[in-house]
Amino acid sequence: MSINEQINSFLQEIPETVKLVAVSKTKPLEAIQKAYDGGYRIFGENKVQELVAKQPELPNDIEWHFVGHLQSNKVKYIAPFVSLMHAVDSLKLLKEINKQALKNKRTIHCLLQFHIATEQSKFGLNLEEAQNILRSDEYQQFDNIQISGVMGMATFTNDQEQVRQEFRQLKFFFGQLKKEFFTNDLNFKEISMGMTGDYKIAIEEGSTMIRIGTAIFGDRYR
Ligand SMILES: *Cc1c(COP(=O)(O)O)cnc(C)c1O
Repeated sequence: MSINEQINSFLQEIPETVKLVAVSKTKPLEAIQKAYDGGYRIFGENKVQELVAKQPELPNDIEWHFVGHLQSNKVKYIAPFVSLMHAVDSLKLLKEINKQALKNKRTIHCLLQFHIATEQSKFGLNLEEAQNILRSDEYQQFDNIQISGVMGMATFTNDQEQVRQEFRQLKFFFGQLKKEFFTNDLNFKEISMGMTGDYKIAIEEGSTMIRIGTAIFGDRYR
């Protein structure tokens, strides 16, 4: 299937309430342009340098999602145009995003990344750390960010039951934060979970956003 056929088959398969982020990392401009010409507008990248190189070469109305781990000193490069930061995992990073958003006279939407996998290498917060951020005086003063929900990556395993439990955990964290901090905030609504290998389980467990690379653009060779 072509890129456009893959995207369309995802759009037909997933519920309307679930947003598809086409993760184009490592893929050439032509692949993204093809998907754009087919009508798609929502793309995800995980490296600042790569996103900054691609963005000016492609149409302006693309909705760029940053799905990778972000270093504070690089926020400034993508703050002018990024539409959602999926992997925010510290107060320090939030502070910098707020600062750069203010500079650009924007509000930047962010998701708090939780550590739900058993693998040590994955980034992310636990519930207490997230609560501490949201309770902090500093956070109350961030007027140029909007926390729109949570994000997580399950363990890379064939054990479907484990993956399901991890997604359930993320949904639970979402519910806890909603209850404690965002009851009246309709913008706090996203649960970004699910990739090529596990998106079906993620949707069953309440995902509102799936991030799909390989199944749309093919294998990555780096
Ligand atoms: C690469 C990546 C994806 C997409 O992964 P696939 O398995 O290729 O669908 C999703 N989320 C994040 C954070 C990624 O880095």
